[in-house]
Amino acid sequence: MSLADLPPLREALAEHGLLARKAFGQHFLLDLNITRKIARLAAFEPGQRVIEVGPGPGGLTRALLEAGARVTAIEKDARFAPLLASLSAAAPDAFILVIGDALIADEAALAAGEPAHIVANLPYNVGTPLLIKWLTGPWRPASMTLMFQKEVAERIIAPVDGQAYGRLAVIAQATCEAQVVMDVPARAFTPPPKVDSAVVRLTPLAERPSDARLDALQTLTAAAFGQRRKMLRASLKALGGETLIEAAGLDPQARAETVDVSGFLRLADAWLAAR
Ligand code: SAM
Repeated sequence: MSLADLPPLREALAEHGLLARKAFGQHFLLDLNITRKIARLAAFEPGQRVIEVGPGPGGLTRALLEAGARVTAIEKDARFAPLLASLSAAAPDAFILVIGDALIADEAALAAGEPAHIVANLPYNVGTPLLIKWLTGPWRPASMTLMFQKEVAERIIAPVDGQAYGRLAVIAQATCEAQVVMDVPARAFTPPPKVDSAVVRLTPLAERPSDARLDALQTLTAAAFGQRRKMLRASLKALGGETLIEAAGLDPQARAETVDVSGFLRLADAWLAAR
């Protein structure tokens, strides 16, 4: 059987008696026009390795395989294994399924030592921790094309001073170039979630901040945005307060939401230098 001969996704779900489970954040994309568009936006080359988190019934997986990716998919819900076995049959050398939890997975092992892109319609409940892991962890993806709740997508790309600007924007923009590449209405999913979604494409910057700088950035942004209405000199008091702000060349009246990514990187450097 080839990919083109696979039954429609709705039929495959019915045949295997599979219903979406809320606990796993399951909202499926059953329209292959949408999954093909996401695969195109991911812009990988045929033959390259893609790690997909949460293939579920495999609509996005099919599109990735059609576009020539060699896909390693990690799925927490083992109920999908028999359905996804049909993809192994249709693309025998291009598809590997791992049953496991992406939050604790070793991406280097999933990628088998090759560079790899991540493409996923992420479960809403773990989307942000997964992104932080990929932005700051030891393994670095070639690119990430990820579906999030729209509100999370806005927090990733938020400009300084914007309402959605916070820790996620600082960490994402210190490590990647990030843009929203597609809006997806709630009705495109089965079952539909309560909110709309968006696909974000993240391309790692050629020079990622060192691990020490990233750790410092995480500590400082947690303190700064944990008390966002306070001035930085108060919210960062335990970490060096005014001395730190002066060393970073920032306005002593600054609040977290008015400090841009380069300002936070300077704070990280000042904090590291003072320790
Ligand atoms: N990719 C499918 C699609 O687009 O139709 C399903 C997307 S659904 C929003 C999220 C998928 O991630 C589900 O299949 C769910 O079981 C799986 N999942 C949830 N938590 C996970 C985790 N921690 N690790 C791996 N997969 C997970």
